[in-house]
Amino acid sequence: MNKILGHEHVQNTFAEAVQQGRLHHAWLLYGVKGIGKASVAEQLAALFLCERPSQGQACGQCHHCAMLHAGSHPDFSKVSLLYDAKKKKFNRDINIAQTREALDFLALSGLKSKRRVLMIDDANFMNNQAANALLKGLEEPTEGSLLLIVCHDLTRLPTTIRSRCMLQACAPLDPEQMQTVLKARGFDQELHALATELGQGSLGRIEVLQEDSQAKALLTWQGLVEDLAKSDIGRIQQWLDSHVKNIPHDLIASVVLLAAQKQALQLTSWQQSDAMFTAMQAVAKWPKEVVMHTLRPAPALLSYILQLRGALKSG
Ligand SMILES: [Zn+2]
Repeated sequence: MNKILGHEHVQNTFAEAVQQGRLHHAWLLYGVKGIGKASVAEQLAALFLCERPSQGQACGQCHHCAMLHAGSHPDFSKVSLLYDAKKKKFNRDINIAQTREALDFLALSGLKSKRRVLMIDDANFMNNQAANALLKGLEEPTEGSLLLIVCHDLTRLPTTIRSRCMLQACAPLDPEQMQTVLKARGFDQELHALATELGQGSLGRIEVLQEDSQAKALLTWQGLVEDLAKSDIGRIQQWLDSHVKNIPHDLIASVVLLAAQKQALQLTSWQQSDAMFTAMQAVAKWPKEVVMHTLRPAPALLSYILQLRGALKSG
């Protein structure tokens, strides 16, 4: 099993603690979405359960590793948001029944080993009752049990939970690491620069770029807004009309903002910078605004782009 790029420090700290027999019973991994926190937690679980770990990694071959890989290890359990097939969407929160059931699992002694691992993914979605129930489990850990909590918004977890866990920050990938991963995942070379800029260290953020048509559309978009003062408003409008429905709004806005930031650097007058800044704020708020006020997305963004253009041209 490989170490996960960018998160080696978490894996190393964990491996050391296991080796020295002083492993804390609850680990909390946090960091922005889409950077591989859950995969790291899965690797830690593997290392904890593996029969023959070496050099801080699970062997990938023993009975335990095989069962874990097949998703059938009886001493590993995972809690996350449940999918509601009737409503065709994920539940809004992780509830108390799920948490209790999981803690009951953790309190049993291991079936195949003397160890048990419970992983709680997206723990920031635990509702209050669930969090309170979890707290009990944290106060009275069973021997041989390991709790791995993964969350992208630490502020959503009560301090009482945070303070009982070993906190591990997972950082976004740096540009060089992003390039390595993009290459490994077979991203087209022409996409690397855009993907690195848009991803901001998170692969999860640029998942849509793996789909060819969406990637091409975003590259076109980048070209259209690159030089805002000279941009062709007719083509921008056309692009928005055909793509605003199927490309994540935050990515559309980010492309505009990246271009605007570069151009704002060249402004010399205070009034111009101020107008530019106001328009950029409007673009940044646009994705949320669309959701909250059910604005018509394309015309709203177009008007902000015209504002940007106006600011640039006013000099
Ligand atoms: Zn193994």
